[in-house]
Amino acid sequence: MTNAEIAAVFDHVADLLEYQGGNVFRVRAYRNAARLVKGTVEPLAKICQSADRSLTDLEGIGSDLAAKIETLLSGQPLPLLKQLESEVPQVAFDLMRVPGLGPKKAKLLVDSLTIESLDDLADACREERVRDLKGFGAKTEATILANLAFAQDPEHNRLLWNEADEIVQELLVWMRQCPAAQRVEAAGSWRRGRETVGDIDLLAESNEPTLVMDRLVAWESAGDVMLRGETKTSIRGPRDVQIDLRVVRRESFGAAWQYFTGSKEHNVRLRSRARDRGLSINEYGVTQLDGGAVASAGATEEEIYAAVGLPWIPPELREGRGEIERAEADRLPELITLDDIRGDLHMHTTATDGEATLSEMAAAAIERGLSYIAITDHSKRVTMAHGLDARRLRKQWREIDKLNESLASGGKPPVVVFKGIEVDMLEKGGLDLPDDLLAEADWVVASLHYGQQQSRERITSRILEAIHHPAVSCIGHPTGRLINRRPAYEVDMQQVIEAAAVTGTCLEINANPWRLDLDDVLAAAAKRAGVTLAISTDAHSTRGLDLMQCGVIQARRAGLEAKDVANTRTLTGFRRLLAKKRAASNSS
Ligand SMILES: [Zn+2]
Ligand SMILES: [Zn+2]
Repeated sequence: MTNAEIAAVFDHVADLLEYQGGNVFRVRAYRNAARLVKGTVEPLAKICQSADRSLTDLEGIGSDLAAKIETLLSGQPLPLLKQLESEVPQVAFDLMRVPGLGPKKAKLLVDSLTIESLDDLADACREERVRDLKGFGAKTEATILANLAFAQDPEHNRLLWNEADEIVQELLVWMRQCPAAQRVEAAGSWRRGRETVGDIDLLAESNEPTLVMDRLVAWESAGDVMLRGETKTSIRGPRDVQIDLRVVRRESFGAAWQYFTGSKEHNVRLRSRARDRGLSINEYGVTQLDGGAVASAGATEEEIYAAVGLPWIPPELREGRGEIERAEADRLPELITLDDIRGDLHMHTTATDGEATLSEMAAAAIERGLSYIAITDHSKRVTMAHGLDARRLRKQWREIDKLNESLASGGKPPVVVFKGIEVDMLEKGGLDLPDDLLAEADWVVASLHYGQQQSRERITSRILEAIHHPAVSCIGHPTGRLINRRPAYEVDMQQVIEAAAVTGTCLEINANPWRLDLDDVLAAAAKRAGVTLAISTDAHSTRGLDLMQCGVIQARRAGLEAKDVANTRTLTGFRRLLAKKRAASNSS
């Protein structure tokens, strides 16, 4: 069982308890457990299996929670979950999966209207029967209808990249232990770093395909075998994902890896380029179109690209968005890597809805080799997270001053903590904290959490106002989308990008795998306009800091280089960036 699956179970229990009107603290305990597990990058199964480690070593996991996780990892259902599932009607499960419908609203719908399926709910919305229920209204009704269509689109049932990555990493470890395989790699959309992954493609180099395919079928998480051929096997894996394994010979490995990495658009263009040169590229290698001698190209990807006169193209760029032309002109970007990252500019602490204290976050940043971080807790509008007012923010800043002092007491501090805030852009316009207070912050992330249903003009103008605010350094998760759950709010991103470029305001690539916001296309547009991006984890726990890699992959897909990203700067370079922005806003 992957961490994401375990987290899903806890969330599910919390939903069901809440649906039944259960004890608030009990509901919250399961929600916290889900978040904790979701934020853990290392597979819990691995920790559980190792002899000298225990789940309770992890921050926030007590013996009770550890026992539940162990139950799940051993393949047993939670007794509580079984009981709840027998008590709550099936339709409630479906309803709660619709974005915007929590357990409470789902219960009200089931109890008040005759709703036995999602189709019934859609009908009820169309017949305007939902709007009259307490707490709903016409707007909510329209949103439910739109979200129903969104949730039922198969495109939104794909795994998040990091969910797929957990499965891929486990599979690679397992398959690479197979003595019959000389090499095992993953391909497909996982390798291209797409934000969601449909199925998982594995490729093995071997002269004994049967043994390699047997190994896959023997994997402990393998489900049904869907197809078994001479060199190809497909199985169902965790979360019902399809896993395709192909076994090829050494001389074709590069050709097959290139072919199965895709994308389709990229490969179509590559093949047409080959045809223009009298060649044919397929998964076995490169051949002459006129049936002449077979060119010796196929063992490596480099050989495939070289055969059509191109340098190797990084998988993240293989989307048919002009990368072949850029490669031809020798203008491929030198893509940013995780090693380039020196700071993290968006994170929460126990002062609001984070799980770790200020000093714990700083210690975790040091452990990860970061030179600087900004603490950006929520502002007061986010009541659910107990957002900070001016008094509490100033108190946190005094703590940060003290922390920085003590970190610097031994000479050069291992990490510098910047005073920040994630300030809400209010529904009525303006920011959630006074200007003079914001002016004292080192780093201000302005985010839009409320009023997401407002018109395009309204939302765009709220964001533009924040961009032009002299204290605002960065716009957090600029489109508000949640992958598979909620589409972006209506906003004119062209205007936002242009204004950010003019004012020197950063735009965020939020590294949370549900957000990845800006996405690859918008981040590329921002780069072209001259905007500096900030890749930030928005961590709500120390382990949340590890999500940086998801943001970096998205940035690579956007073709970003280290210089395009604020938090690749050295500490001095980052301070210079802050000073430049300040000078620009003072003079305007
Ligand atoms: Zn936020
Ligand atoms: Zn945040």
